[in-house]
Amino acid sequence: MMYQIMNNFFLSLQSAVIPTAYPSFLFKGVTTYGCQSIYWFLPRIIIDSLKHVLGLNRGQEMVLNAIGHDDSSGKLTFDKDTNRIFFQPPHDHLLPRKVEAFQKLAKKLGGVLFMSRYRSTSVHLLGGCTASSDVSSGVCNPNGQVFDAKSPTGVHPGLYICDASIIPCSVGINPCLTIAAAAEHVRRKLTENKSSNQKQRFISNYKMKKSCNLEVSVKETMRGQVGGMLCAAYLKLRFKTQLLRGKVGGYVECKGIEMDKMYIIHGEVDLCKTDIRTPYTQYMHYNLLIAASSGSRYVLEGKKVMNPYLLALYAWRESTTLNVTLRKITNNIGEKTLNLKGKLRFSLLELLKSMRTLEGGNRSKFIFLLMQSLLRTYILQVPRGSHANFTPSELVHGSYPNSTLHEIKTEVGFIICCQLWKCSHSPQLQQEKKPYPILLINGYSTESYCLPTEPNDLVRTLLKVGHDVWLLRTRLHLSNCSDHFSVEDIGKIDIAAAINEIITFYRESVRVHIVAHCVGGLAIHIALMGGHVSARHIASLSCTNSSMFFKLTTSSLLKMWLPLVPISMAIIGQNKTLPLLQTSPTRFRHCLLKSIARLIPRYERCTCDECEVFSGIFGNTFWHENITQSMHHWTNKENIRRLPMAAFPHLRKICNTGFIVDARGNNSYLIHPERMALPTLYISGGRSLLVTPETSFLANKYMKLHQPGYRHERVVVDGFGHSDLLIGEKSEEEVFPHILKHIALAEEERSSWRAPREYTEEALAWSDDPYKEDWGKFRGWICILITVMLLVVLLKLLFLPGFP
Ligand SMILES: [Zn+2]
Repeated sequence: MMYQIMNNFFLSLQSAVIPTAYPSFLFKGVTTYGCQSIYWFLPRIIIDSLKHVLGLNRGQEMVLNAIGHDDSSGKLTFDKDTNRIFFQPPHDHLLPRKVEAFQKLAKKLGGVLFMSRYRSTSVHLLGGCTASSDVSSGVCNPNGQVFDAKSPTGVHPGLYICDASIIPCSVGINPCLTIAAAAEHVRRKLTENKSSNQKQRFISNYKMKKSCNLEVSVKETMRGQVGGMLCAAYLKLRFKTQLLRGKVGGYVECKGIEMDKMYIIHGEVDLCKTDIRTPYTQYMHYNLLIAASSGSRYVLEGKKVMNPYLLALYAWRESTTLNVTLRKITNNIGEKTLNLKGKLRFSLLELLKSMRTLEGGNRSKFIFLLMQSLLRTYILQVPRGSHANFTPSELVHGSYPNSTLHEIKTEVGFIICCQLWKCSHSPQLQQEKKPYPILLINGYSTESYCLPTEPNDLVRTLLKVGHDVWLLRTRLHLSNCSDHFSVEDIGKIDIAAAINEIITFYRESVRVHIVAHCVGGLAIHIALMGGHVSARHIASLSCTNSSMFFKLTTSSLLKMWLPLVPISMAIIGQNKTLPLLQTSPTRFRHCLLKSIARLIPRYERCTCDECEVFSGIFGNTFWHENITQSMHHWTNKENIRRLPMAAFPHLRKICNTGFIVDARGNNSYLIHPERMALPTLYISGGRSLLVTPETSFLANKYMKLHQPGYRHERVVVDGFGHSDLLIGEKSEEEVFPHILKHIALAEEERSSWRAPREYTEEALAWSDDPYKEDWGKFRGWICILITVMLLVVLLKLLFLPGFP
């Protein structure tokens, strides 16, 4: 785009007298007008001002203008990447001659020459959409028609420019008559083309109407908050051939971020998106590129997650809530990127208004398809795809670091074992070896740390930073399955034995960092607070979704409250290890228990039978969306082959009290906070599954209150549920860094002296947890519904023929 500026040479000639506007000249002028030497300039001002006060001189400022043509080579460019407009001034070949002439003049008059910083200015702005013979050097043709390279005629039909912007360069005199003549010229050409234009327009209108009839358009207004700031989206959705996918227009208002409306410059919507990881769930995806008047651009991504949980109880809330992320596009390295999360909803009133705005010939088909997809998701619950289609050959079996197995005989004679990875075995080792080893303790019978099918896991992450890693296989591990034990035995005997083994392996002064998950976390607290393991051997403790407290979600709590565990134990009989793999030869009792488990309601359904049975017994342990298909296959088909059920009665007691109790149900651990003299980290998943963030909240407060001398951290990781904290696809980025940092800080604090920590009153206040989920009025309904459903399951169970 060419931009012509008529060259207006502006000079200020100053005599030996300070002008009348002295103060503003001094303070504004000096900064605007260049001056060769300030040392010369200041005494001059003082002398001149004295003369002025005495009335010896009058103001004799003179302005010199030189008008002329430059090369018309100025350029205005818009940089898409930085959203900035750049101006490159035109070249003026007369400039040196003009300066020379003014210098001579100033010398003759005995004055001082000041030059304007803006040497080329114009009072008659011309150009901007210059007329040209071809598209390479202009915006429109000599008839004012705007170029369009894609159109067969080479121009946009019916789009004309007829003002000063088409004049390509300065005309040197007042241009108003020139502008009028140009407009007159364009008008004549426009009327000449009128008849052919009309014909063209008629054809294109007919085509447009015809295609519009097949289109469906609807307006949607959603309101809510993004990053805690009020936000509203006024969208217009247009669906064409594929009726549930289309384009989005409209604007977004979020005064906290941009004062003006932010317009959607490109938007796509897909109302029926599926993900093979979650075959029962339907997603509605919105992807909008929006531009603000400030020049900033944003990407707004929205997703409605529609899950057929508990007879579509959430259907209304899910299908009207858009979970959004707003991201600012920036190319400047170092600039802090804006990345906000929030929720936008539409009310019933807005939905009715939306339905009124539904237009287009395919309206009824669109409604039919939309209803069909919702019916399929919520009522019929037909899966889209199956986990069975995933073949094990797709598993990536990379080489895994070598390890050694240490058998440990416990004090009661039971054999458990520890898998040890020495960090020198790791080929990726980049850092120096760390002094203290790590002990990993798994949750209930599932492996969460050593994941051979995944590109990374916590074992390899810890090896990389230079730690020896010990993975404990307690009696919950399927290689040591036992029929008679409780969670207390794991803490009291197994963990104590493992710590002793590590101490003998290294030396007496060694300290162990412990990372524990779920039931493993309960067990280590039992070990420490029960006095079976001394805190002086422990360098730090990190627990995921567990602590000395154990707070469950409403549905899990109800399941624990109902006598499902005693009934299951009665069914399973003496052999308390339940084989989970479908192909395993199973007894009648096992089959019965598995079929009951399949009936129990859960958050997410799955097409994999083992996953259905396991999540029936426990509840879902991970959000399917968060784990890869290879992980899903491995965890269900290879990892959990058998499930030892013996510890369930004790676990139920812990769940029902909400904190660790002994096998008889007595509170014999929480009364010993003095045994917890160590730094702690409690991590919870922000998207509750099984265990709620209250677990880490209470533990963190408890530790700060009773052990203020140590560092106690609590982290709630957004978007994660339970075991996906460790086996999730994004665990490496979002969860492991917290554990690594905690361990590193614990080592640092051990090696250097620090002042005793004092927690503020605020930190100790037992106020409400900011991460507590707001269930609102749904909570009551869910409780009633789950109770009814579980009673139905129980009745079914009682009247089932062949009950032992
Ligand atoms: Zn599954």
